[in-house]
Amino acid sequence: MISLGVECTAHTFGVGLVEDGRVLSNERDVYKPALGSGIIPMEAAKHHDQVSGTILENALSKAGIGLGDVDVFSVSCGPGLPPCLLSGVRFAVRVAKGKPVVPVNHCVAHIEIGKLDSGCKDPLTLYVSGGNTQVMGLEKKRYRVFGETLDIGVGNALDKFGREVGLDNPAGPEVEKTAIGGRYVELPYTVKGMDLAFSGILTAALRRREKVALKDLCFSFQETVFSMLCEVTERALAHTGKLEVMVVGGVAQNRRLFGMLTDMSKAHGAKAYAPRPEWCGDNGAMIAYAGLLAFRHGSRERMEVQPRWRTDSVAINW
Ligand code: AMP
Ligand code: MG
Repeated sequence: MISLGVECTAHTFGVGLVEDGRVLSNERDVYKPALGSGIIPMEAAKHHDQVSGTILENALSKAGIGLGDVDVFSVSCGPGLPPCLLSGVRFAVRVAKGKPVVPVNHCVAHIEIGKLDSGCKDPLTLYVSGGNTQVMGLEKKRYRVFGETLDIGVGNALDKFGREVGLDNPAGPEVEKTAIGGRYVELPYTVKGMDLAFSGILTAALRRREKVALKDLCFSFQETVFSMLCEVTERALAHTGKLEVMVVGGVAQNRRLFGMLTDMSKAHGAKAYAPRPEWCGDNGAMIAYAGLLAFRHGSRERMEVQPRWRTDSVAINW
């Protein structure tokens, strides 16, 4: 059975084709805001409308199939930016031409493609991206959220910080490079119960910009936010007793974060996993794959744009 998935929640427009558990193609184009600006939702949606036709054609030709060969369509319905979600949903419904269209939760898709690519089975998942930061694990047929950000996603914090100090966008990889060999200066560490907040550290780091070398600031920013993420993940790991820790989302590409999670997991007799970089960030194949799982197991989710769609509201029937 061939599944076509559309990703559209924020800056990425992607189309992926999956046949059972095998990815046939995975094409995407990423909206880049003007220098010094963050993502403008209406602009990102316009980007999606502009590139969607070409991305679809490329995905089909790389897979060597036609639209008529697709059995089921899927689209990321949330969480995300409303204009972007609307653009993707309209596109998916249009190209499906009456064939089934499955609504997919973006966070669930990250977990499923992460498991497929990294080979773990029942991980405690740390999902760290531009807009999202959540610690989740499967309990009683739902991906329960054990902890999450109370304000912005950790990737967003890194990007905003980078933008203000003149690094390239997206800044996550630039901060990682600049941090090498840096020294630690203290920054606010904000873990509240099992939840996290990143806006305080962002403000504090920018205030120290004049007096602290950029390398030291990047190092300290990373050490602080990654320690916060590890602390919450560790407590969820101890609580659930899981034996696998998986990190997904764009920030999962960071080697320092993965190293810290690996050490923490070892201390609990668990193992850390991360999918390859292609599967860390937003992509269409993860939507196609999660959509196929849902379709085969009789998904009953509502087909509508859901900007605040909670991961733990989705029944995981597979
Ligand atoms: P996503 O929202 O999942 O597409 O991921 C995009 C986010 O990942 C952006 O905020 C990037 O700055 C961040 N990112 C990408 N690579 C890295 C890296 N090596 N270290 C930290 N953050 C990264
Ligand atoms: Mg994402």
